Amino acid sequence: MDNEFLIKGAKIIDGTGKDILEDVCMVVEEGKIKYIGKEKEFGDAKEIEVLDMTGKTIMPGMINSHVHILMEPIGDPFGLMTGESEAKTVIRGINNLKKHLKSGVTYFRDMGGYHFLDIELKNAIEEGFVEGPNFLASGKVITMTGGHGWQMGREVNGADDVRKGTREQLKAGADVIKIMATGGVMTKGVEPGSPQLTFEEIKVAVEEAHKAGKKTASHAQGTQGIKNAVLAGIDSIEHGIFLNDEIIELMLKKGTYLVPTLVAPHFIIENGVEAGIPVHAVEKSKRVMSSHFESFRKAKEAGVKIAMGTDAGTPFNLHDKSAWELKLMAEAAMTNMEAIVSATKTASELLGVDKTHGTLETGKVADFIVLNENPIENIDTLLDISEVYKNGVLVKS
Ligand SMILES: [Zn+2]
Repeated sequence: MDNEFLIKGAKIIDGTGKDILEDVCMVVEEGKIKYIGKEKEFGDAKEIEVLDMTGKTIMPGMINSHVHILMEPIGDPFGLMTGESEAKTVIRGINNLKKHLKSGVTYFRDMGGYHFLDIELKNAIEEGFVEGPNFLASGKVITMTGGHGWQMGREVNGADDVRKGTREQLKAGADVIKIMATGGVMTKGVEPGSPQLTFEEIKVAVEEAHKAGKKTASHAQGTQGIKNAVLAGIDSIEHGIFLNDEIIELMLKKGTYLVPTLVAPHFIIENGVEAGIPVHAVEKSKRVMSSHFESFRKAKEAGVKIAMGTDAGTPFNLHDKSAWELKLMAEAAMTNMEAIVSATKTASELLGVDKTHGTLETGKVADFIVLNENPIENIDTLLDISEVYKNGVLVKS
């Protein structure tokens, strides 16, 4: 049959967290995984193209749970995006999609678009006229007037307005609702620690999204805001800088995911004011960095579900550097395998695409990457990926 091939010789990390598979082959047919197992037990006698990948390691394409595909990771991305034509913003988005794909990200979740251009871009991929990872789009972020990300968001005030704002995103085709429970690093004059949308407001957004069968994510950095979001039933906490034991308990009880985005402050501090990052963003990042890592460690040790996300598009958080997040998570608290699972199986579960994506198992979509080394031994090999397959098609070699 056409579009069928058998890969042999490679080690396989299937993304489930199980031990690495050796002496097995993987058969791909029509973009799906047809078989993983011993070659001699693969019953098909017919001619099939064989790819010998001896010495390589294969794993699922990475899933990045927190991306801003329209944003350029320069010092002040908001300023640029809100001051240019929509056509140019979309062209940048197309360019950024390629960067994610070629660096091994085959699925992602956008966490804040602009003028619904994110939704247009997502549809263009599904229709097949733009190349890139599949992704979930959130439309405009739901934020209070003057709240974090207001430049690109839908400003809301009071429960009725939140309901209306949330319904507007769903009407426009959003797959997930993103809300702002606290201030953040990038918006001038707002504090990462301060609560923003109220518990009642968040609850309404969650209710509207869940009614429509969609998930919710909250930008949440300060303790009170995180608690509000978790209690309101949010599906994932983004950043989670100031967690405490009580919140970690609550997250475990409610099954709330954490998307740490450790690379976001990391790259802001690495590059600094000299690179054009606003002073307020650099100073706030420096203040929160150690709490951020500490919260991540505590959550991980307690068993909170952690999905990989980078916040790509924020200053110097490049669209082809998702692997850095795995590297930082592994340095801080995870084994290399745990970091990989957070970027494959766990992220697919958070996105709700685990029936088709996230792991290499029979019947799933053949989105996978080929590595020169075994990432369990050297996670840096993810920074320089050899090949990327999307839907069983080689898209980077
Ligand atoms: Zn973000």
